[in-house]
Formats: sequence, structure tokens, C-alpha cells
Amino acid sequence: MLFEQLGLSAELLKAVSDSGYKQPTLIQSKAIPVILEGKDVMGAAQTGTGKTAGFTLPLLRRLEVYANSSMSPAKHPLRALILVPTRELAMQVHESVKNYSKYMALKSSLVFGGVNMESQTVILRSGVEILVATPGRLLDHIQQKNVMLSSVEIFVLDEADRMLDMGFLPDITKILNLLPTNRQNLMFSATFSDDIKRLAKQFLKSPILIEAAKQNAVSDLITHSVYTVEAAQKTNALIHLIKHQKLDQVLIFTKKKSDSDRLTNQLLKADITASSIHGDKNQQQRCQALSDFKQGTIRALVATDVAARGLDIAELSCVINYELPNNSEDYVHRIGRTGRAGIKGYALSLVSSEEKNRLKDIEKLIQKKIEIKSLLLNDTSLPRVNNPQEKKITTKLDKNDSSQKERKCALIAQPSSAEVIFFNGEYSTRKNTQAIADHDPLFTQPYVSSKTEVRSTLKSRNTSLECKEKKFPFKALPALFFPFVKRSECVNKS
Ligand code: AMP
Repeated sequence: MLFEQLGLSAELLKAVSDSGYKQPTLIQSKAIPVILEGKDVMGAAQTGTGKTAGFTLPLLRRLEVYANSSMSPAKHPLRALILVPTRELAMQVHESVKNYSKYMALKSSLVFGGVNMESQTVILRSGVEILVATPGRLLDHIQQKNVMLSSVEIFVLDEADRMLDMGFLPDITKILNLLPTNRQNLMFSATFSDDIKRLAKQFLKSPILIEAAKQNAVSDLITHSVYTVEAAQKTNALIHLIKHQKLDQVLIFTKKKSDSDRLTNQLLKADITASSIHGDKNQQQRCQALSDFKQGTIRALVATDVAARGLDIAELSCVINYELPNNSEDYVHRIGRTGRAGIKGYALSLVSSEEKNRLKDIEKLIQKKIEIKSLLLNDTSLPRVNNPQEKKITTKLDKNDSSQKERKCALIAQPSSAEVIFFNGEYSTRKNTQAIADHDPLFTQPYVSSKTEVRSTLKSRNTSLECKEKKFPFKALPALFFPFVKRSECVNKS
């Protein structure tokens, strides 16, 4: 089938051709005619199948009649609302909308949380026909009367399963209640649980079911491999894989935000350019990390599951699961970042003995036996990385050992080491310093060795750092410094 046979306008066909698409994908050839007829759609779309163009192109075709270049907000009422779960997805979907509508006088915008509302407000008040939004921020704008939903003709709920996982059901229900009854509804979901079916029943009218893939299917273009590695060896194994398999662009998933920061630092230590992306990063940091990764400025992007859905990184060939996700469906979403748009992908997972059951669940879900490979980590040429899990900091200074005492003095005398202790002013008692060390991932790593590094780590966490550069007379350096000296020692030893 050709795009020309789908009933799209010349403007849309030109935009499609500019995007380099030769043929519609399966979901596009199935969904576009149905959406153009004005019917409700329930789309089961495999990640990376071209689903976004599948609903955006017919949506734009239906709104084309309203295209106008008037400056008046009244001439640009909201006609289409696309609800997505994450900011990243909002940005990507909006990019597609802008891209496909570039030859049309239709206005579009996006709103998501975590950033100032003001610039979004100005755009909304100037009038937009198409809005891509995350639920919470949309409700904020509705409450402040920056946007009204009464003129919406097409409502799209994208990544519906993720919406429910993220607890957006109450917000979605509120939004549904504000929409006019006479409208077209399109719902897309990678998986169809009972909850999703219940939600579909709530708002879809006689929907046409469009399946572009089997439920929970993963792309055949992806090769899955598992490396059995104990938890303590995972960082070494990861570095080994990246370096020895010459992986130039790799998306790595961890379960916890703190792990993704720790791992990023360890990759940097091993001369692998890396950045992390997770829910504690502000919008600017997340955009920067993603843009660096897409442009190839960094080799590894370490992400939590917040990034698993929606990210579209052109030609990403490898995803590594540093740990398997608790929820098997998240495996499908994580690895769905590769093997997209006809390009082969590799999904590698580091699996410890505790994770074997999770692996079985995943194999059951994707109906595939994953090949187990072994990794030779005793190669001495391999980079060694201290892993906090692997090596507890047990080094203690022996009061009677003069060589150690000298070392301690030398370390304390280094301003770069000593200054770190004055973190956010928490330097007054040993107890306080230890308290920070106990809960702050930065202080639980044995790698924090220099002021620059601490600053950059804190900068990347958006933490305000006031390194109070108080000069302490050497004789006044008490046991307060002891915890940190121990860490510095580990750095020097490794
Ligand atoms: P999606 O599943 O919507 O996230 O799209 C995945 C990727 O496929 C995006 O990079 C799109 O630009 C690309 N894509 C969408 N439609 C086509 C097509 N017909 N031919 C080739 N690539 C496409």
C-alpha cells in the first residue's frame, strides 16, 4: 500500500515524503482510513510501529478545514486533545504533530508539568487547534481558565496502559467529564489488561479494534540475550559489554533513580561518556541528557522506567537491562526503544541468581526463550570498578600504623577532599556528616574524590551546593573528618 491511497491531503503527503517514509506501516494503513471516517479506535500498537503518525496524520486531515492564519485566539479553538503519560512522550508526539502539519495553518502546542506555567499559558491563550498534554498539567491550565475543552472534536489517549500504571486514572476521568459528548475517541495501548478494557468501555463508542501486533509481542527485529552475572559484578560486566562489544549508543535501565546516578558516575570513571535520566531530574536536565544521547555526544544513557515509554531514538541498536524490571510488561517497553522502524536491535540483560524467576515471567509474557550467554570477567585487561555492593568500605585507619597516619594527614591536607565535608553547611558535628552519608547516594559511593566531581554530580542532581571554603587549622581537624577520609582512601586504592 502507498500513502497516496490512504486519503491524505497533498500537504500531508508532502510532509510524509519529507520525513523519508516510503510506505505506511501496518498500523498506519489500518488506522488511517478508519480514523478518517470519524470512527472511534482502540489501537493495540507495538512500540516503534509508527503509531504516532498513524493517529496524527488522519487527525490533521480531519482538522485541515479549520486551517487559518488569523491572529485572533477565537479563530483557533482547541479541536484535538492528545493526552500522554510523560513529558518525553509529549515532546515527541508534539514534534510529530509539528512535522506533519508544517504545510498547514494549524496551531499546536504542548503542556507538561515540572516547568513554569507562564510560557505555556501565553501560548494557550493565543489559541491552538491541537494540544499535546500530560494530565496533571492540563488540569492546572483548565483550572486557571487558560484552556477550555468544550470545542474538542478528537480526543486521543496515548499509552493508556502507562497512564494507568502511573496512577492517572482519576485525572483522566476528570478530563473525560470536561470533554463534549459529541467527539471522536482514539485510544492506544501497548498492552490490554482488564483495567484498560474497563477504561475503554467508559469512553469509546463502538470502537474499531486495530491490532498491529500480538498482545505484549516484541519486535522480531530484536535479539534478546541474558548474561548471568551476580549483582556485585554487574557494573564490571556492563563496562565490559560496552567496551568489548564496542557499543557506541546504549540505553541502560536501572530500577532505582539512585542506582542510575551511581552507575552513570561509574561509567564516567571508566571513560564511558554517560548521563542519567529519571524522575528526580528537572526538565532541562532530562532534555539535555536526551539530546546529548541522540546527538551521540554521550555513549550511554542510564534511565529508570520513566524513560521506557515513548522515547524514540533514531536507530538505537542496543538496550541493556542492568536489572530486570519487577513488572514483565516493563521489559517489553524498555526493549521497545530498540528494533524500531525496521532496524535491528539488541536487548541485553544482566541477570543475577535472585532475578531468575523474573526472567521466567518475562519469557512467559513474550513467549520466547531468551538465550543465556556467559561473560568472562576474569580478563585482567578489563577495567575494574568498585561497586558499593561488591566491596563494603571496611578500610580502617590503624592508629599505630604510621604509614597510614601519614596518608591520612596527606588526604586531609588536600583541600579537594576536605571541602566536600562542608556540604550544605552540614559540617558542624560528626553525627551530621554521617547522617548525610547514610542517606545520600553521593556519599555512599567510594568515588567522590574531587571538588569538581562533587560539584558536577550535585549540579547534575540540581542540588544547591554551598561548598563553604572555611580554612580549618590542621590541628582542629577532628575525628569529624574520619568518615570521609575512609572514602578517599578507597579511591586511592582502587
Ligand atoms: P512511533 O511508533 O510512532 O513512536 O514511531 C517510531 C518511528 O518510526 C519514528 O521514528 C517514526 O519517525 C518512524 N516512522 C513512522 N512511520 C514510518 C513509516 N511509514 N516509514 C518509516 N518510518 C516511520
